[in-house]
Amino acid sequence: MSTADTIAGRDLAALRAAVAGPVSVPGEAGYDQARQAWNLVVDQRPAVVVEAESAADVTQAVRYARAHGMRIAPQGTGHGAPPLEPLGGAMLLRTTRMRKATIDPASFTARAEAGAQWADVIVPAGEDGLAGLAGSSLGVGVAGYTLGGGLGWLARRYGLAANSVTAAELVTPGGDLVRADAGHDPDLLWAIRGGGGSVGVLTALEMRLYPVGALYAGDLFFPIARTAEVLHAWSAWTATVPDEVTSMTHLLRFPPLPELPGPLRGQAFAVIEAAYLGDAASGADLIAPLRALGPDRDTFAMIPAAALGDLNMDPGQPVATRGDATLVADLPAAAIDALAAVAGPDAGTALASVEVRHLGGALARPAAGGGAQPSLEASHMIFAAGFAPTPDAAAAAAAQAQAVKDALAPWHAGYDYYNFRETPAAASAVVPAASYQRLQKIKASYDPDQVIISAHPVRPDRP
Ligand SMILES: Cc1cc2nc3c(=O)[nH]c(=O)nc-3n(C[C@H](O)[C@H](O)[C@H](O)COP(=O)(O)OP(=O)(O)OC[C@H]3O[C@@H](n4cnc5c(N)ncnc54)[C@H](O)[C@@H]3O)c2cc1C
Repeated sequence: MSTADTIAGRDLAALRAAVAGPVSVPGEAGYDQARQAWNLVVDQRPAVVVEAESAADVTQAVRYARAHGMRIAPQGTGHGAPPLEPLGGAMLLRTTRMRKATIDPASFTARAEAGAQWADVIVPAGEDGLAGLAGSSLGVGVAGYTLGGGLGWLARRYGLAANSVTAAELVTPGGDLVRADAGHDPDLLWAIRGGGGSVGVLTALEMRLYPVGALYAGDLFFPIARTAEVLHAWSAWTATVPDEVTSMTHLLRFPPLPELPGPLRGQAFAVIEAAYLGDAASGADLIAPLRALGPDRDTFAMIPAAALGDLNMDPGQPVATRGDATLVADLPAAAIDALAAVAGPDAGTALASVEVRHLGGALARPAAGGGAQPSLEASHMIFAAGFAPTPDAAAAAAAQAQAVKDALAPWHAGYDYYNFRETPAAASAVVPAASYQRLQKIKASYDPDQVIISAHPVRPDRP
């Protein structure tokens, strides 16, 4: 009997009748498209895919899954699919059709449905002179990004996106649609702010926005041969900047693709990227020491917050990549040298992107009333990834990303950053230890049977 027959035996017609969105099972037209994650290297094969149109659809799908003994993997874009456990026998509950976002400029808040991408929030918010705490790519989903922390271009000033969430609407594993806010289900609200999506299926989030007009931001491109020099100079500079500056050094190896602009195609760079919440004159003063290094190309200018989505040159279309990340407690000169040795010009690596993100500032201070990641207890986040169009390329990229982690192991912060940990790991490996213990208790209350499959699982604390 095929999997499709199994689901048919579980009254597939009843599920189709209960939800407005498409339902696909293996063997049907539409199944392959419905199960496809943004990262093309991921081959997820659930027993059924439900593409919910609404919170009511999510509720019905969860109840169906419970009644039929199926586990549930909630997913929006699938940017965060690489660490997921195999989905055989499970329901993949996609929210990609739930993209409505509304901005309330009077209260400086936004409400985004669970399938919204950051562009759905950032573009309209920008029209009111406001910004949410998006990451480097506006195609990333608001939900998964925020559930796992959310590290963006305003992070050193305003912290992780998760700690700006004021309310969440979700369907519990028991099938109830609830609203978690300061006055209701505070444990749920705490858990979803940085603890991942292990306690239910989110249908919408409400979050604070911040008054951000134009920023002084851009990239300084250096030949990759200057990696060590650039990293040392940037690192020394970061010690001098205010919380209004968020920056990274990004080692980039562009493939020789015809669709890339000529100056980037097939070239490799060490790029210093920065965003400054301030005006052009003081911004120029701030980055003067970096400009003095003599970059080949300098794109710094006043830009709207929505244009921050271009700064990191993330792929806009789905791609196949393998990568992984680590947090370091400190990045002394020896750590920079170790990193340059495995990712710099002489490393013989195929890693297309190695990001060294400067943390600190508001990220280092526990957010008042914050959630499961109240702060990031680390000085830098390092993420390394390579293209993986073939199994051999995937294996090479995974090994080289691991080599970056291994090289930085002496400075490891004790846990990794939730959102960029792309290899399977329990939540205990990606949130602070005290948070994990509380997450286990909340999991035991809301999902003792581990119905929800999340990027980094939480094991319930059983008495
Ligand atoms: C190109 C690119 C750029 C990135 N830039 C950044 C960045 O700047 N900063 C940063 O912090 N991260 C960044 N990330 C990492 C990103 O935040 C994670 O991959 C995140 O999981 C993506 O969220 P998503 O909703 O798009 O992905 P999805 O794969 O749809 O979701 C990821 C996980 O979130 C949970 N989830 C999603 N929706 C729901 C729901 N409705 N209910 C319950 N749980 C749910 C599930 O556990 C799911 O497996 C980037 C990733 C990529 C690929």
